[in-house]
Amino acid sequence: MTPLFPIRLKKGVDDAVRGGAPWVYASDIIDSSQGLLYPHGSLVAIENAKGQAIGTGYYNSKSQISCRVLALGKEAVDEAFFTRRFERAMGLRDALVGVPYYRMVHSEADGLPGLLVDRFGDTLVVQVGTAGMELLQPLWLPALDALLKPTGIVLRNDVAARTLEGLAKSVSWLKGANAGLYEVVENGCVYFADLERGQKTGWFFDQRDNRKMIAEMSKGKTLVDVFSHSGGFGVIAAKMGARAVTMVDSSALALSLATKAAQRNDVANLCVTVQGDAFEVMDRLRQDGKRYEVVLADPPAFVKTKKDIAAGMRGYLKVARMAAGLVEPGGLLFVASCSHHAIRPAFNKAVLEGVAKARREAVLLKQTGAAGDHPKHPALPQNEYLKGILLKIA
Ligand code: SAH
Repeated sequence: MTPLFPIRLKKGVDDAVRGGAPWVYASDIIDSSQGLLYPHGSLVAIENAKGQAIGTGYYNSKSQISCRVLALGKEAVDEAFFTRRFERAMGLRDALVGVPYYRMVHSEADGLPGLLVDRFGDTLVVQVGTAGMELLQPLWLPALDALLKPTGIVLRNDVAARTLEGLAKSVSWLKGANAGLYEVVENGCVYFADLERGQKTGWFFDQRDNRKMIAEMSKGKTLVDVFSHSGGFGVIAAKMGARAVTMVDSSALALSLATKAAQRNDVANLCVTVQGDAFEVMDRLRQDGKRYEVVLADPPAFVKTKKDIAAGMRGYLKVARMAAGLVEPGGLLFVASCSHHAIRPAFNKAVLEGVAKARREAVLLKQTGAAGDHPKHPALPQNEYLKGILLKIA
């Protein structure tokens, strides 16, 4: 094997890396300028201050995160390395979820920075977010293919983060071809996903447990599911006994899949969809005097970068204010945020202020996160991106 480019860590930093820190910053490296000469994304040997190798990572000369750690000690980054990581990730999900519909690889949390794999039965959706992981495709693709023998693999490399890494955006099938809509089996329901055109990877597996929790609390009740996407919350709620479900989203594609899921689960008679801007629809529903025993709002990420924090928080406040206005006295309100930068205390504060602005009182029942197939890297607090807050509204 050709020797890897070296990066040498400043004294003391190697302890953090050996202790599991997944990122090395430019400021952690002795003479990081030499890295500018390394091809973007290349594998590097991570050395301590004495020049002894302590692990392997990939290098990004354009980012403050200069190196993402792949392996510690002498473990080589080859096809077998990816096979081991995939087996471990799959074992965790198989034990946890029970059906082959889950996020199988969740980037750093599974020891594979820059790689996401979502599993829809025999079909995989893969998303590569970094130049380093892109260069390693000749290793991870055969490993993934040999382990799962999928009939289809679609590469959803159409995320904005790729541009920051200097990578082009595209969607392509690495194996098989698009077979139309794909089923998602979850919590005993069958949903539908469009893996090529759907948002992100086509399905938000991270809300699996929250959907079940809300459905269990909605038996015999009316529910409005704002930002419903393809019916993840609404359809299971109807199936588990909600009296009537209204799903609101701006995306015609998402709502068409929600309707199809309602039909497939024999609850179409209980479900209606409303296409439109959520804020306008919530305003109209309130003016029409509509009230619901359960209101949930799961908006898109309002805080995409650190500089959006203030505006994003105003967004969550507004969502909570408008949603709270639709809750029957004594009913439930669930608001979620999928923004990494919206940390829990600030998010809770925005939601509670929104409820107060609606002149309603709240009791905090529960705080929730992402389902277990979205594990958190212990050293990356930003991995706790999905936050839910469940309130009882007086
Ligand atoms: N709750 C969903 C996920 C929601 S993702 C689930 O369980 O799967 C956010 C959704 O908000 C997307 O479906 C997107 O189409 C929708 N959306 C974004 N902006 C919107 C707006 N202004 N009005 C209504 N829907 C919007």
